[in-house]
Amino acid sequence: MKRDVTGLIIKVKKYAPAADTSILQRAYEFADQHHIDQKRASGDPYISHPVAVANMLADLKLDIPSIATGLLHDTVEDTSATLEDIQNEFGEEIAYLVNGVTKLSRIELQSNDNKQAENFRKLVLAMAQDIRVLLIKLIDRLHNMRTLHYLPSADSRKRISLETIEIYAPLAERIGMFTVQEQLQDLSFAELNPEAYQSIMLRVADFHEKGQDIVQRVIEGLKGTLSEGSIDCEVFGREKKPYSIWRKMQRKNVNFEQLSDLFGFRIVTTSVADCYQALGLIHSSYLVLPQKFKDYISTPKPNHYQSLHTTVIGPKGIRLEIQIRTTSMQEIADRGVAAHWQYKQEMTSNDGKRFRWLRSLLEIMDQAAGAEEFLEHTKLEMFQDQVFCFTPKGDVINLPQGATPIDFAYAVHSDVGNSCKGAKINGRLMPLRTEIKSGDQLEIITSKNQQPSPTWEQFVVTGKAQANIRRFIRSQQRDQFTRLGRSIYASELTADQRKVLEEHKESIYKTHGIHNESEFLSFIGEGKITIRELKHKFFDEGPMEDDIKISKSKVSSKKSVEIKGLVPGMAIHYAGCCHPLPGDKIIGIITTGKGVTIHNSDCETLHKYEEEPHRWFDVSWGDTGNTQFKGRVFVMLENKSGSLGSIATIIGKSGANITNIRVLRRLNDYFDLLIDVDVTDKDKLFDVIALLRTSSIVHSVERH
Ligand code: MN
Repeated sequence: MKRDVTGLIIKVKKYAPAADTSILQRAYEFADQHHIDQKRASGDPYISHPVAVANMLADLKLDIPSIATGLLHDTVEDTSATLEDIQNEFGEEIAYLVNGVTKLSRIELQSNDNKQAENFRKLVLAMAQDIRVLLIKLIDRLHNMRTLHYLPSADSRKRISLETIEIYAPLAERIGMFTVQEQLQDLSFAELNPEAYQSIMLRVADFHEKGQDIVQRVIEGLKGTLSEGSIDCEVFGREKKPYSIWRKMQRKNVNFEQLSDLFGFRIVTTSVADCYQALGLIHSSYLVLPQKFKDYISTPKPNHYQSLHTTVIGPKGIRLEIQIRTTSMQEIADRGVAAHWQYKQEMTSNDGKRFRWLRSLLEIMDQAAGAEEFLEHTKLEMFQDQVFCFTPKGDVINLPQGATPIDFAYAVHSDVGNSCKGAKINGRLMPLRTEIKSGDQLEIITSKNQQPSPTWEQFVVTGKAQANIRRFIRSQQRDQFTRLGRSIYASELTADQRKVLEEHKESIYKTHGIHNESEFLSFIGEGKITIRELKHKFFDEGPMEDDIKISKSKVSSKKSVEIKGLVPGMAIHYAGCCHPLPGDKIIGIITTGKGVTIHNSDCETLHKYEEEPHRWFDVSWGDTGNTQFKGRVFVMLENKSGSLGSIATIIGKSGANITNIRVLRRLNDYFDLLIDVDVTDKDKLFDVIALLRTSSIVHSVERH
């Protein structure tokens, strides 16, 4: 292998005379220095590999940044060079491409199952982003496959071959690089199934030897037929590749002797009109198999492949597969998206290259959905909505964009989700709400004592995680209501009363559709059955007084309000005696049949419950969003005309809404007022109070 880039630069200059190739010289020197002590498995200096890759990229007539990336592609992964070094030396575009190829190098197929292969292909596509990254990776892989036999470990050779045939060959096909696809397939096939490969090679050689004159005769025959028109063309005979023969034998259940279509013939013309004229001449001279005719010129394949395909009966009844195309179609068939891109490139200016590349890939993928040629029927955009991450064993888990470790845990197994305590992403402990990125490796830390948290529901994105968390919360909620119901039942009823109720159990259960005791107790806890109701019915006691009056105009507990310390879904009321606001210290008091009443922790009403510790719940404000709460202020206001109006204006300025004004006392000089305002929290209410205090007509303001 040559150890300089003179040949490479000459090659590039041929198709891009104006290109600045000095960057290639510098990239070569950079890579050479960094790989200096490294050798390939073949014993060659390591630099031979990037130089070969760069040359192959130049054969595809790629742009300078791609070829420079070919030279640099292994420096970040395998040497002391960093991405910053590349960025400083070669700029952002090349650093971007090197980074892309480096990321792809870290993905390894470790599973043998088909579903995994499909996910891996999507992963590679999603991660590549810029199609040049994919092209460079494919060429890198092709060169590694060509030198695979030097690798001493049979396991490694097998793994790499499997990955190549399952992932990279289909990707090459997707972007129309048939030549690369064929080579990747044959090199992998030779490694994975050496007996089959050898036997096909022998038979092909044998057939080739005996059939040589047949091929030559067919070519001569076709030329003769075509000479009847004035068509400028060349005719080629071409042997099918071992892997495609093998596939045909697998698919069609035929043996070697029956494979008459070992050879393909190709007619390459200079114009589309000549293609159709050639077709006409052939169809009028040979017997045609009509079902085999395909016109990919008028209807190109999604990857932009164009050609006419026909099969006719040749001499000795041999079937001849014939492709007819122009030289530029031939170019696209060989180089796929690379050729396609180049034409676009020539037509447009220099900026935004990267995005044109991407767009042309998107165009191709866009149309791929309905095409039988493609292995997946999924569009690229769909992969962009997804992330692909790994289990510690190397399995790929496919999740929607925005998924978190909790989603991942539930995707692995419900038990893993339910006992998820923490997560390591790429070996580092990360918060459970972290968004997973494609290529991340996740490890879930579980604990028997862990339970799903209701807050998880706010950031999970998969239905599976949501359903599991909700199911858990519901059961936990039932437990809590049952616990509560049990203590209410025990404290509010005498032993004798409980005994009486026990005798009527059946009828109570029946009336309410209850199945067992814990359900009965949870009904009491939840307030679906009240003690008052039971006493009234069975002991003829009058309706019980409610211990406290719950404000009728209470703010309903909207979904966005979260009170910590309670399970979601419990009915929440805000006490009318103290009007608690977010920011206040609060206490929850369970009230039979009413759910939980939230009091300010310094509310005097709380004294009433000192003897009933089972009714106290330690709670705090969670996220309350923009929910409005009722705040109440006591105002002493000068009694003069217009002062009430001024108050309304002042409060309006603070942005708060007055919901009620009550005049408590009207003296000659002062009003005593209670004003209710809707505010989001305590601080907001204090803003209102402060603003009122600035007014000359306000004597005093207190929170009430
Ligand atoms: Mn490489």
